[in-house]
Amino acid sequence: MTPQLLFYILIGIILAKFLFDTFLDAQNAKHFNDPIPKELKGIYNTEEYEKSQAYKKENYTFSLITSTFSLVLTLLFFMFDGFAYVDEIARNITDNTILITLIFFGIILFASDILTLPFSYYKTFVIEEKFGFNKSTLKTFIFDKIKGWLLLLIIGGGILALLTWFYQLTTTNFWLYAWGLIAVFTVFMNLFYSKLIVPIFNKQTSLEEGELKTAIDNFGKKVGFKLDNIFIIDGSKRSTKANAYFSGFGSQKRVTLYDTLINDLETDEIVAVLAHEIGHYTKKHIIYNLILSLILTGFTFYILSLFIGNQLLSQALKVEITSFHIGLIAFGILYSPISEITGFLMNIISRKFEYEADEYAKNNYNAAALISSLKKLSKNSLSNLTPSNLYVKFHYSHPTLLERILNLKK
Ligand SMILES: [Zn+2]
Repeated sequence: MTPQLLFYILIGIILAKFLFDTFLDAQNAKHFNDPIPKELKGIYNTEEYEKSQAYKKENYTFSLITSTFSLVLTLLFFMFDGFAYVDEIARNITDNTILITLIFFGIILFASDILTLPFSYYKTFVIEEKFGFNKSTLKTFIFDKIKGWLLLLIIGGGILALLTWFYQLTTTNFWLYAWGLIAVFTVFMNLFYSKLIVPIFNKQTSLEEGELKTAIDNFGKKVGFKLDNIFIIDGSKRSTKANAYFSGFGSQKRVTLYDTLINDLETDEIVAVLAHEIGHYTKKHIIYNLILSLILTGFTFYILSLFIGNQLLSQALKVEITSFHIGLIAFGILYSPISEITGFLMNIISRKFEYEADEYAKNNYNAAALISSLKKLSKNSLSNLTPSNLYVKFHYSHPTLLERILNLKK
């Protein structure tokens, strides 16, 4: 194969991915005006329904504009040998391979974040604002950005530096060391994410004694599940949208409830959401997900190790000196069709787990309470009640609201 051919293959993959995503979005948009299934009638009144329609359409147009902008930017960068240019900048600053990698990715990530900043600003302060979701202030928005960059610099930079170093030391066995590093990091983050990362962005407080705490304790006793760590997070600082999640395992397991969830739902509905989360834990979904993602990581690193030393990757991007960082870029694009497939499979598994967690809540608590909580949550986030089947298959980690309600009513 010639570098020229590989260059066109890379461009072809980028274009194909864009066309496929755009096709899925368009497919989904075609179903915006579908009649609402009878199980879902009454979630919106006429005015709310019209608002939800407008919200869907606005987001659709917005995502089409952003993705087209990103595509044009990426293609221009390829056409004008952007990677070679940034590679040269990094090499002019230092001779140290690890530092070159860090500077190279630092420039690319920072520049693309700055270029897409107007879009994220518009999404938060124009679209979300218009539909009454946004609670974020400009100050929070700016601080979130800065904190995000610092975290990326420290954690992302640290990992990237170690990976580059491993590669220098062990070339062929590189993937094993890389895998080990990511495995340790993933398990660590699973355990301590809520304690170390979340507090940088949000306030978390223990759930106080009261009606809700008693109801949760009673449910815990009934199913024999000890849950001491229930936290309320101030999601309302940024958005009115509500959420709840389970994290960690063993002694580090905890449930986090958004304050918006507590405002929107009745006590039995919150316990039903919690029962669903406990279902995930009891059925070991958290561990299975962790193991699956570790296997996938190992597989990806193994394939990477087969390609990364090939000078064709660098030549295709018009970079003279073969290097780890240029190899990573080219590999990332070549691998993206495979990650599309693994993502598709992971979504299938995830949706199966969601059904199982719903079933747990139904068998151990109350299907009706879960149904009404799901309906309220959908209504309050103006969610799409009639997504296209194809779109759901590729993008939904949860079954649709209709599917979940039908399953709970079975
Ligand atoms: Zn779930």
